[in-house]
Amino acid sequence: MAGHHRLDDIHQRIEKSCANCDRSPSSVSLIAVSKTFDTDAIEPLLVAGHRVFGENRVQEAQTKWPALKERYHDIELHLIGPLQSNKTADAVALFDVIHTVDRPKIARSLVKEMERQQKPCRLLVQVNTGEEPQKAGIPPRETLSFVQSCKNEHGLAIEGLMAIPPFEENPGPHFALLRKLANECRVRHLSMGMSADFETAIEFGASMVRVGSALFGDR
Ligand SMILES: *Cc1c(COP(=O)(O)O)cnc(C)c1O
Repeated sequence: MAGHHRLDDIHQRIEKSCANCDRSPSSVSLIAVSKTFDTDAIEPLLVAGHRVFGENRVQEAQTKWPALKERYHDIELHLIGPLQSNKTADAVALFDVIHTVDRPKIARSLVKEMERQQKPCRLLVQVNTGEEPQKAGIPPRETLSFVQSCKNEHGLAIEGLMAIPPFEENPGPHFALLRKLANECRVRHLSMGMSADFETAIEFGASMVRVGSALFGDR
């Protein structure tokens, strides 16, 4: 299927999931995850009117998006991969939304860069719901205090939480945990659900789903 036909298909599946749980489709934002795909693969989606994209590496995004942002003006670019503090300046310059705030050092360097560049980014905190040692994110039990310290110590407004459940587990309990934590933290957005499980994530309240291979094909 060509990229824009896949886009129609994913929109229909989002609408159907929303209908199943009495949600409005406008409450779910589809982030098209274009990592590893080049401009030729991305452009059909832009031509079809899609504007919300996600990348997981700052350096890779820098090779594609500045040129595309010049040609299509209202692009909303999301960083969904780990952020190193030496990449914060580049991330703030290029991205509109950062999903992976997960430690005080990153919070501090984001404050500094957003101030210096006069460029506010929308921010989410990544939670390691499965407490996997190799995975980024704040542990569930530290989430509330971290979100509060972002606000009280750094003056950062956190808009939501993001998680990547363990690959081999049923994602439902992880989505439920993320929703519970977001309620405790009083943040609005839930970034959860990928190609294999975005419909389940919507039933658990996802407001942002991150879909890559179902839109662009296998990586
Ligand atoms: C790659 C990636 C996705 C998209 O994964 P698919 O299974 O291809 O839909 C979503 N979220 C994150 C953080 C990713 O790195």
